[in-house]
Amino acid sequence: MNRSNQTAVVTGAAGFVGSHLCDALLKMGYTVFGIDNFITGQPRNLDHLESNGAFHFIKADVSQPTANFLPTQVVPTHVFHLASPASPPRYQAHPVETYLVNSIGTHYLLQYLKELAPQARFVFASTSETYGDPAEHPQVEGYWGNVNPNGIRSCYDESKRLGETICGVHARDFGMDVRIVRIFNTYGPRMDLADGRIIPNFIKQAMNSEALTIYGNGSQTRSFCYVSDLVDGIIRMGTLDNLAGETINLGNPLEEHTALETAELVKQAFDKPQLEIIFKPLPGDDPARRKPDISKARELLGWSPQVSFAEGLRRVRESLS
Ligand code: NAD
Ligand code: UDP
Repeated sequence: MNRSNQTAVVTGAAGFVGSHLCDALLKMGYTVFGIDNFITGQPRNLDHLESNGAFHFIKADVSQPTANFLPTQVVPTHVFHLASPASPPRYQAHPVETYLVNSIGTHYLLQYLKELAPQARFVFASTSETYGDPAEHPQVEGYWGNVNPNGIRSCYDESKRLGETICGVHARDFGMDVRIVRIFNTYGPRMDLADGRIIPNFIKQAMNSEALTIYGNGSQTRSFCYVSDLVDGIIRMGTLDNLAGETINLGNPLEEHTALETAELVKQAFDKPQLEIIFKPLPGDDPARRKPDISKARELLGWSPQVSFAEGLRRVRESLS
């Protein structure tokens, strides 16, 4: 399908996932307006798009009213709202900015679209953290979660939940084409190695020949999805018909690993089998396990992840060499 008359807005464009999403949309022929305030993203993630005439970058804070920063002639056909700090240390360092961008930022974007482009498709990047420390495993979309409303993660997980509420109101009450993806742990090239998440930490430690840090006893699990698989799922969510009001998990259930297994797999991928592991205290409210049920994504999007953890780590290593 020719997308040359279609205009996508990507918030969080200078971030890890957002920059890959911009690349993929541009390849499909979209005109792309990328918005970012660089609170956690990096200008270098977009350097390669500088001479791309179909890409337009706007430095702005999407927690401010949207109409103030998008050019008046721009009428988007698709909006992908990815702006938000995502790493626990980063969102805990910016708790107010985090809850604002996921709540009032989502509200402003949808109100703007309601006036200007009510037919546009809107995809909200929600998170597996809406399930909190899940009492059900794997997590299906119908599970309401087990979330501490006033803990160290709540600036993020509760604001994503409110963001989902705001999306639901605009879909149900205003008939808008709003879709929600719940993203599970994702890794790949352009991850910020300083952002404190498990994969960046382990990779940085392996590259520096330092001991790998495990928080707690290392039995907690996460399911790791490679970024190209995630972006493929997000694009399917934004472009397929008849998905208004849907919420769909995107993640890789085949690659659920304990933190200890993850450390071993990173050591192998970076040829550093001899590195030690050191144990540090487990942060509060750290979910004990996490794995997506992706039956809905398979059925409605025809989507399933294609890249194994070993292959994904190999590609990350290659990107860093
Ligand atoms: P990231 O921190 O690399 O990217 C987020 C981007 O949003 C950054 O470039 C940041 O500067 C920008 N941003 C934040 N607040 C903004 C604001 N008010 N205005 C404009 N720009 C703003 O994070 P990521 O890993 O690429 O995550 C992208 C999205 O996916 C986030 O919404 C995150 O919650 C969601 N998500 C990611 C993961 C994952 O494993 N990467 C998992 C679950 C959900
Ligand atoms: N973790 C770890 N060592 C690290 C960083 C994180 O053991 O150096 C643990 C963390 O406590 C959590 C899991 O790895 O149990 C995943 O953490 P991450 O910050 O990547 O994201 P989360 O899924 O918790 O949001």
